[in-house]
Amino acid sequence: MPGASMNRRTSHRVAVGAIAIGGGAPIVVQSMTNTDTADLCATAEQVDALARAGSELVRVTVNTPEAAAAVAPLRDRLDAMGCSVPLIGDFHYNGHRLLTKYPECALALAKFRINPGNVGHGSKRDEQFATMIEAACRHEKPVRIGVNWGSLDAQLLARLMDQNGRSAVPVDASAVTREALIVSALESAAQAVRWGLPPERIVISCKVSSVQELIAVYRELARRCEYALHLGLTEAGMGSKGIVASSAAMAVLLQEGIGDTIRISLTPEPGGDRTREVVVAQELLQTMGLRSFAPMVVACPGCGRTTSTVFQTLADRIQTYLRVQMPAWRGQYPGVENMRVAVMGCVVNGPGESKHADIGISLPGTNEIPVAPVYVDGRKTVTLKGARIAEEFQAIVEGYVARKYGCGPASRAATGSVS
Ligand code: SF4
Repeated sequence: MPGASMNRRTSHRVAVGAIAIGGGAPIVVQSMTNTDTADLCATAEQVDALARAGSELVRVTVNTPEAAAAVAPLRDRLDAMGCSVPLIGDFHYNGHRLLTKYPECALALAKFRINPGNVGHGSKRDEQFATMIEAACRHEKPVRIGVNWGSLDAQLLARLMDQNGRSAVPVDASAVTREALIVSALESAAQAVRWGLPPERIVISCKVSSVQELIAVYRELARRCEYALHLGLTEAGMGSKGIVASSAAMAVLLQEGIGDTIRISLTPEPGGDRTREVVVAQELLQTMGLRSFAPMVVACPGCGRTTSTVFQTLADRIQTYLRVQMPAWRGQYPGVENMRVAVMGCVVNGPGESKHADIGISLPGTNEIPVAPVYVDGRKTVTLKGARIAEEFQAIVEGYVARKYGCGPASRAATGSVS
């Protein structure tokens, strides 16, 4: 595969349950719930939905005794539902107390996220951070040392600002803040290693909400350490802004081989679907050629030659159909995630693009003869027409998938083939 996947930087490999982060492993997609973790039903439902959408790790908030007490039952409930996705606990302020008082919570989690800016202040800081690292060592769990510029260690920042003020060549405040983020992560990681946590159980992140700052911070972080890196633009925002900002920042870094696991931090619309962040993360990795998750639909944007909505409706229908099928297809049809389907609006680029895809359809543009040639593996096979083009094309896609990717008994039975 061309590009960044060939240039992955060297990092330690961290095992999070059955999932590997770093050390050349495929880049892991993760997400986070926004339910009250103490609400077992709602949280289990959302974790399951995120996992079904393709999230390989799911983080949950552990902020209260009730939330901590709910984690082990949550794990049990997910297992009973057949959902084995590893859970990560997100701790701030009171993680030292919760991990000590609720050892079953620590045991049920596959990883702890610790924010060094929120573990405590003054003389309490090291003691409380050490308590959490000891819990990780005792339960043999990996830790993400997750720094965030919204909760950066104020004492550390003041110390670096002070040093910069005394320097003969002071740098600007944003450069000092970037340095503080990196130092906070690396000094905390070094402490954790001194207290017994192996580097192969440490993941680092330094999240900011500015695209250019994120690129600068992670380039420097990657230069200065070999820890596995969790990549994400924090507080990316809503809708297209959040998607564009996250993609712009992460694509640059991923192309340079930086980032072992990603999370897209989208703010959902009220009542919106939390799984959107998983789909966006997958699409980012897949469009960059770094991983494949679901068949890709190549569709032209449409123009004055597509004055009806037939073309948009079919493109949307096929894309939705392919994604909905994927949970079942993943096991049944290995390799189907690499399939490319083209849905094109007219004769200008339709036949050409369709021939480049595994399977493609070129719909009739305005004033064209109302027929739609279908191309399979680069060759025109059939021409569809009439009111049922969508249904017939979907049936052709289904048959193609079963023939090309079906290899198990279930697939052969479905296609009627014998061996
Ligand atoms: S393929 Fe045809 S309909 Fe689609 S954008 Fe190009 S000219 Fe327009």
